[in-house]
Amino acid sequence: MILGVIADDFTGATDVASMLVRAGMHTVQVLGVPESGLPQADAVVIALKTRTSAPGDAVAQSLRALASLRAAGARQIYFKYCSTFDSTAQGNIGPVTDALMAALGTDFTIACPAFPENGRTVFRGHLFVGDVLLSDSGMRHHPLTPMTDSNLVRVLQAQTSHPVGLLRHDTIDGGATITQARMAQLRAEGLKIAVADALSNEHLMTLAEACAELPLLTAGSGVALGLPSAYARRGWFTPNANACDLDTLQGPAAVVSGSCSEATNAQVAQWLAAGRMALQVDPLALHSGQQTADTVLAQATQALAQGPVLVYATATPMSVRAVQQAIGVQAAGEQVEHALAHIAQGLVQAGVRRLVVAGGETSGAVVQALGVQQLRIGAAICPGVPWTQSTLAGSGEAVQLALKSGNFGGADFFAQALERAVVAL
Ligand code: ADP
Repeated sequence: MILGVIADDFTGATDVASMLVRAGMHTVQVLGVPESGLPQADAVVIALKTRTSAPGDAVAQSLRALASLRAAGARQIYFKYCSTFDSTAQGNIGPVTDALMAALGTDFTIACPAFPENGRTVFRGHLFVGDVLLSDSGMRHHPLTPMTDSNLVRVLQAQTSHPVGLLRHDTIDGGATITQARMAQLRAEGLKIAVADALSNEHLMTLAEACAELPLLTAGSGVALGLPSAYARRGWFTPNANACDLDTLQGPAAVVSGSCSEATNAQVAQWLAAGRMALQVDPLALHSGQQTADTVLAQATQALAQGPVLVYATATPMSVRAVQQAIGVQAAGEQVEHALAHIAQGLVQAGVRRLVVAGGETSGAVVQALGVQQLRIGAAICPGVPWTQSTLAGSGEAVQLALKSGNFGGADFFAQALERAVVAL
């Protein structure tokens, strides 16, 4: 194994795996740290669900993942977080980075959530989502990790005991050698983590080349785009053009959506506007017992005969706030996640073989309910979201899952995914 990735949520894990596969690296994603050891692959991505855990728990799980990746011989470790730097005031990007650095005995790493193809760029340490600062984007309303400061040096500094510096875009413009020289300078100045700017794929490629031999990288999925070629240049592996092939499966299709992001709200609205079959999960009705996951599941299963069905809890920020005020942030999130996971499980039992899931936490809950332990990564539907294939624990049958991080995809993403319109990247 060349690269071992520790991802802080499930969709983030498929996102980074998709980047590696696209550049020809055979990549397997495992869900949690398997008891039985890791599979053979050029890269293994361990998907955790630690983004919003208590920092102590996130650190403990990340260190367990690190131990298994090191035992499997990983040459480099990559801590993958969201391209919008999703974290709570307590962490977990800082605490996990600190713990991984200590365990690896390294005194320098970078932090770079940039993913320019998806509109996430870092300029002078400030994160932009499209044309607006992170703090002006929809992320300021996120139900679990509202992001209200765009200055990543400041955000990260509040979460880590290590001094945080900045690796600027105009240095990276100078190429990998100049970037490495600047990193050495920052390190000599006593800085331990450098927030790295990136405005383009060229910046990501340069960063990957400059950082390919660091023991630890911390980033969104973007930096991974350049790693396979940086490894190939070092003669560590040969890229494989068929790294993303999956099987052709027969069976009904469905979408389960628990993300409340702007992008997902637009995707649900487009599905409804097209007059497609959809069922809404209402957190307040669930809470009062007026609605149950089983009644929604029964309706959804019946609807499958007419074509793909969408089951959604997706709602506007105003409606999410009202629900959270009524029953609490944590309770609302968990209740919806449990309901959607139960419905997804029932739909797969009813024969669904292609399932799109919108939302990072939601995907984590669905995948756990399905008992899926390992995902083969296929081609991308849009940047950051690949189709994946797994084997169901009981029946041994194959099922394909598209796990979409809330912010990703255009308004027609659901239909696009179900038509298997895989984009050539
Ligand atoms: P994203 O990828 O957009 O962050 P997630 O699934 O990670 O999406 O997070 C969305 C959270 O919001 C989940 O915990 C989900 O259960 C919760 N949620 C979904 N719908 C509602 C709603 N209508 N009211 C309150 N919370 C909701």
